[in-house]
Amino acid sequence: MSRFLDERYKELEPYTPGEQPKNLKRLIKLNTNENPYPPAPGVLKIISREEAEGLRLYSDPEAAELAEAIGDFYGIDKSMIMTGNGSDEILAFIFMIFQGKNRRFYFPEISYSFYPVYCDVFGAEAVKVPLASDFSVNPRDYERADGTIVITNPNAPTGMAMSLKDIERILKSNRENLVVIDEAYVDFGAESCVKLLKGYDNLLVVQTFSKSRSLAGARIGFALGHEEVIADLNRIKFSFNPYNLNRLSIKAGVEAMRDREYFEQMTGRIIRTREKFVSEMEKMGFILLPSKANFVFARHESIPGEEYFTKLRKYNIIVRYFGKPRIRDFVRITIGTDNEMEELLTATQEILKEYRQEDPQYEKKENT
Ligand code: PMP
Repeated sequence: MSRFLDERYKELEPYTPGEQPKNLKRLIKLNTNENPYPPAPGVLKIISREEAEGLRLYSDPEAAELAEAIGDFYGIDKSMIMTGNGSDEILAFIFMIFQGKNRRFYFPEISYSFYPVYCDVFGAEAVKVPLASDFSVNPRDYERADGTIVITNPNAPTGMAMSLKDIERILKSNRENLVVIDEAYVDFGAESCVKLLKGYDNLLVVQTFSKSRSLAGARIGFALGHEEVIADLNRIKFSFNPYNLNRLSIKAGVEAMRDREYFEQMTGRIIRTREKFVSEMEKMGFILLPSKANFVFARHESIPGEEYFTKLRKYNIIVRYFGKPRIRDFVRITIGTDNEMEELLTATQEILKEYRQEDPQYEKKENT
């Protein structure tokens, strides 16, 4: 730490991103919820000499073409859309400028671990609301809050989704608070609350191209909300980094958004793989939370989460382990291709076999 750093950032504990190994050969990477399939075919077309030469020019600060493509997809006006350098940037803006009178954010205790970091960066109070005993988000815990509410739907890392009815309940009792729904994983089987925008000007929906549109490396996120809320977000964006989306990403995003058929095919494929994988894991004695995302959260009565995580690594398979209270027993597994999931299942069978041999208590634990 240098002597120049501001006092207020000295204690800051940054967000820890999932590992991004350099050598991907022989590695099955199921740790950061990326999409195993390539982006829409149209995205390939934008990589040309002409586009490369165009990089001498700045990008469109309004990313108008992209906003239009998003607007067409959802049937909403451009004035209700703001684009960002990944949804992380948009979330950062939200935690910066929508702190409410009390400078306070309410979010589930187990959720996207970036939220408390943003609170620290921007000097807001984080109110971490415990999940129910079945790991669901209880809407009653957010009724009549005295701060901004941020809920990931489906939640991460549990994968569990909330119904629109429950979200509406939160919106209704918080007319004076902004309610942010982070829909990073919504396209894998949950219901988007974009349709609630008509009735609620306190709703702000955040989405990303990183998961369901296979563009994590392009860094494209967007927010959908009421015109005035979007204008506020743009006010801060233009005070911070007007050209926040680069030229290639804007084009890639347009292509990905316009190809609805490919999007539906690929998300459908991941959902099918997930359902098959869940039932195979259950047969091996795993307990999985009901997931509507492109990952599952799984634990086994007999093998500790950390041990399973470490052993998978020996089979060149990386998943994510958090090691935090209440979720210590779990690992989060991204849904990859059918082949990748089959390899994981085979490795898991081996690991359970090895574990039985190594641990004399195993049989006893299995039977209790
Ligand atoms: N929200 C949630 C819940 C996430 O898991 C992620 C991905 N880590 C993001 C937002 C950010 O995604 P991106 O910045 O790639 O759009």
